[in-house]
Amino acid sequence: MNLLPDVRVHRPKTLDEAVRLKAASEGTRFLAGGTDLLVNLRRGLGEPTSLIDLTGVADMASVRRNGESLWIGAGVTLAELARHPDVPPALIQAALAVAGPTHRAAATLGGNLCQDTRCVFFNQSEWWREANSFCLKKEGDKCQVVAKSDRCYATYHGDIAPVLMVLDAEALLVGPDGARRVKVGDLYRETGASHLALAAGEVLAVVVLPPLPGWRAGYRKVRIRDAIDFPLAGVAAALKRDGDVIGDVRMAITGTNSAPLAVATAGLAGRPWDADAAALVVQHLRKKASILRTTVVGAAYRRRVMQAMARKLMDELWEGE
Ligand code: FAD
Ligand code: SF4
Repeated sequence: MNLLPDVRVHRPKTLDEAVRLKAASEGTRFLAGGTDLLVNLRRGLGEPTSLIDLTGVADMASVRRNGESLWIGAGVTLAELARHPDVPPALIQAALAVAGPTHRAAATLGGNLCQDTRCVFFNQSEWWREANSFCLKKEGDKCQVVAKSDRCYATYHGDIAPVLMVLDAEALLVGPDGARRVKVGDLYRETGASHLALAAGEVLAVVVLPPLPGWRAGYRKVRIRDAIDFPLAGVAAALKRDGDVIGDVRMAITGTNSAPLAVATAGLAGRPWDADAAALVVQHLRKKASILRTTVVGAAYRRRVMQAMARKLMDELWEGE
């Protein structure tokens, strides 16, 4: 790894100040726990002119009730999130599935949602990438995963976004033009080199969780090292059971495409969870996930294990485990 480049670090105390600092300098980047960004910078993946450290911004650091909703500051660490009594179990499950305990002590919710996409040809040292002629995402002119492609297929591997999507959460974004709320799924677009749909200068301030009476939700992932690793594929689901049939269901995936994606669930409501319903889920997953050779583990394995995890997760939610 390289040494960190020499950069000036700003430490704003308020959201307004953070937004003003971002607007004042084009090449600056937000820094939260640094567990994604600093690793990338030490690999030569980015040359910010300065960093805006968000960890001192008080407005982003708490979890609080606001009417029926739960407002979770983007600066809340994953360790704090996992031990907060008001946070739903599925979100705790996802937070505890991120990296290892020392990462989670520093890593934030906002940084998790805004982490960069990853690819086995990209998340490498500078000399490794140079020896392999770089690639389209940075410094090169061709994609090593999909030859002749004019876009990057690097994969989004965040654990928390799919869970927030099935919990119907929203993100509060604050920028130079004011504040706006979007569904968490709308924070992303499917292109590996530029997967965040935040407008220039916007900061993710808060995640808003609505109440979900009667829903059960959960998350499953597969990874190489169980103690500390990104999902090779991850599935979140939320289910509302209506007696002997499915009342409503939501599903979202990560580790498969350049963005976390909602999976269609058409045809599931109104029927029991059985082998036919499971086959339908697999069909929907096949249509949505486009797993490519962006990790050291083969795409066929990731595809199959994603389908198996989805079925097991739905079994659990159906039985109310
Ligand atoms: P940072 O590194 O500070 O920031 C990440 C990105 O988000 C930067 O581009 C930054 O500019 C931007 N950003 C941060 N906060 C905001 C904000 N509020 N508004 C707008 N932009 C913002 N991640 C997983 O999901 N699952 C894993 O299993 C996992 N395993 C890992 C294993 C290792 C060994 C390592 C090194 C990392 C792993 N990660 C994993 C990635 C990372 O640790 C987490 O995603 C973490 O939550 C990132 O949060 P952070 O606060 O450290 O983000
Ligand atoms: Fe580079 Fe292609 Fe990987 Fe994107 S998908 S990081 S362009 S090799």
